[in-house]
Amino acid sequence: MNMEADIETLPGIGEKTAEALRKGGIKTVRDLFYYLPRDYENFQNAVKIADLKPGKVVIKGQIDDLNTHYGKNRHLAITEGIIRDETASVRVVWFNQSYRKNQFQPGKTYLFSGTFELKYGRYQLTSPSATLYEEEKDDLKNALRPEKDEQGFQPIYKAHQSIKPDQFKKLIGRSKPLFAKIPDLLPDIKSKPSFVNKTARATALYDVHFPRDQKEVETGRRYLAYEELFELILAANLNRKENERLKSQPLPFKAENTKELISTLPFTLTPGQKRATWDILQDLEKTTPMNRLLQGDVGSGKTVVAAIAAYQAIKAGAQVALLAPTSILAAQHAESLSKILKPLKVNTALLIGATKNKAELKKHIKSGEVNLLIGTHAIITDDTEFHNLALCIIDEQHRFGVAQRQKLLLKSPKNMAPHLLAMTATPIPRSLQLTIFGDLSVSTIPELPKGRQKIETKIIREIDQRDMLYPKIAEEVKKGRQVYWICKSIEDNAKEETISVKKQAEKLSKIFPKFKIDFLHGRMKPAEKDEKMQKFEQKKTDILVSTTVVEVGVNVPNASVMVIMDAEGFGLAQLHQLRGRVGRGQYQSFCFLVKSGEERPSRRLRELEKSTSGFHLAEVDLKIRGPGEIYGSLQSGALDLRIASLSDTELISAAQKHVKNFLESDIPLENYPELKSSIQKYQQLTTLN
Ligand code: ADP
Ligand code: MG
Repeated sequence: MNMEADIETLPGIGEKTAEALRKGGIKTVRDLFYYLPRDYENFQNAVKIADLKPGKVVIKGQIDDLNTHYGKNRHLAITEGIIRDETASVRVVWFNQSYRKNQFQPGKTYLFSGTFELKYGRYQLTSPSATLYEEEKDDLKNALRPEKDEQGFQPIYKAHQSIKPDQFKKLIGRSKPLFAKIPDLLPDIKSKPSFVNKTARATALYDVHFPRDQKEVETGRRYLAYEELFELILAANLNRKENERLKSQPLPFKAENTKELISTLPFTLTPGQKRATWDILQDLEKTTPMNRLLQGDVGSGKTVVAAIAAYQAIKAGAQVALLAPTSILAAQHAESLSKILKPLKVNTALLIGATKNKAELKKHIKSGEVNLLIGTHAIITDDTEFHNLALCIIDEQHRFGVAQRQKLLLKSPKNMAPHLLAMTATPIPRSLQLTIFGDLSVSTIPELPKGRQKIETKIIREIDQRDMLYPKIAEEVKKGRQVYWICKSIEDNAKEETISVKKQAEKLSKIFPKFKIDFLHGRMKPAEKDEKMQKFEQKKTDILVSTTVVEVGVNVPNASVMVIMDAEGFGLAQLHQLRGRVGRGQYQSFCFLVKSGEERPSRRLRELEKSTSGFHLAEVDLKIRGPGEIYGSLQSGALDLRIASLSDTELISAAQKHVKNFLESDIPLENYPELKSSIQKYQQLTTLN
């Protein structure tokens, strides 16, 4: 059977259904067969009606005497009926599910799962789910597994676009006989794990859609997880190979240049900074492009590492671009980098929306007079031309999408790919480094420079602000420190109960009439934002109320307090980033996570209160949310993992071995057309050219 065949070739799928499925991205047989149940219903413990006891129950029987009538106010449709088995009968009731009246065929047996209870003086089964009990012999199941099929375990699918859960069940159920013909996907070579055998894939998919018990579900999912890992790791390896075929301009290391730069710094590099710098400087010497990720917690000193790398490139006669996610950040980078590099006669320039005389500047970029250009990502999409761009540094992004890379390639000298250095304060857990990010080289700065104080973090209930928060704010401002105050929304919004930037600023002006309070948000004009940020940097503002535009990179060492309103509404990585805006100078700093409501704070907030390590928090985040959530939304082209298997290190190392052996075997990927097309989606996400 061809898994890549059109969905319409399956039994019972006509033009209309096919169209609806396609709209939801389910186009091929494979797409449908990999539409996995979100959960299962266990009908295995069916009891006889005569033995029913109040509580959650499952019964098996036939249903009749169905009718629907309306409650007093006509808003409530009550559908009633009688379920019988060979021992007794019981009344069944559904509310506002009038379709139940036409759901059942006379003479057929169904499984019902619901609550058996006493209501208005009568016992009844309330709002059960119902599923057809198929008595016919299940030949396929018998072929794959000779034991008797119990059929007590039923899949529940998620609705998707206009397709309802039960429709998925029906559609996939109709194709049941085809499952035995599902071909293998993974290369059958000697280093594969023993569970990757001839019918492994067919069995796994069958077990996940038509299991008899939880155990079958789990073994099926484990195989599918393995398959997914194999694909991810293979894609990463192929990307790496592809990268190795590209040519880049070698930027030779000269010890005297690096020494010269380091000698101008007011501090000595940490061991982590030294190691990372060395990795990068060596990569730059090569004729294959660097593709390296530099990860280090907020404040670990990535900027100076980037500066040293840029200096090596510039001394080799090349140009460097540094891209930041926002113009505020770009401006800050421009300032700190020119502070480091200007004494060394490097020409740095900032190109953002607010830059004056852009045309003139672009001329200098094109002529090569500008050695280091700092800007937002707009630089790579606009008409900026370079003379000799050989290194591109990307701040606060894990990796570049395909489209972005393509554009960069166009801006570089003929047929030369620029070296890429991505920097991030949101570290990638080890398991993901081996899989999704397997094509990247990674350098880590594990420590902060000496003498940094730990930021004290505290969760505060909204109603406790007056007693626990305001006095602290007053104390810090009186000492000369400054405060960030983060709110989720800009203006009040009827739908949200969160406090807005504007309202919070007004409120604080009343509470602290003597303090200078200002506000900032992303909808302001860039020039206005920059001006407000500058005022804060120059200490003309005590408390800056803002949205998350100050999230990444902003550096005001005198700020010692970060208050985050409605903290439950932010992600873990984002909260950690926000917190990193304080504790950047010699002062003891504080972070207050304000939450509304009386419930216990979420695990997210509690972890944040306990730990200031970005590495620990990234691992926790991966556990809480899974990789799809985190990295899917981060990248262009969602990372749509069916099964979050990325923390299973045993499975990962088995797949790595299997992939390695496959690549070494020199069997062409063309021999596995389905595998080839299925890894393409991962390659698109990560490919280098
Ligand atoms: P991040 O990794 O968050 O980008 P930065 O590069 O902005 O961190 O560095 C944070 C601060 O630490 C800067 O003020 C920088 O000058 C300072 N710094 C960097 N490296 C060191 C070091 N080895 N010792 C002391 N201070 C350092
Ligand atoms: Mg930074």
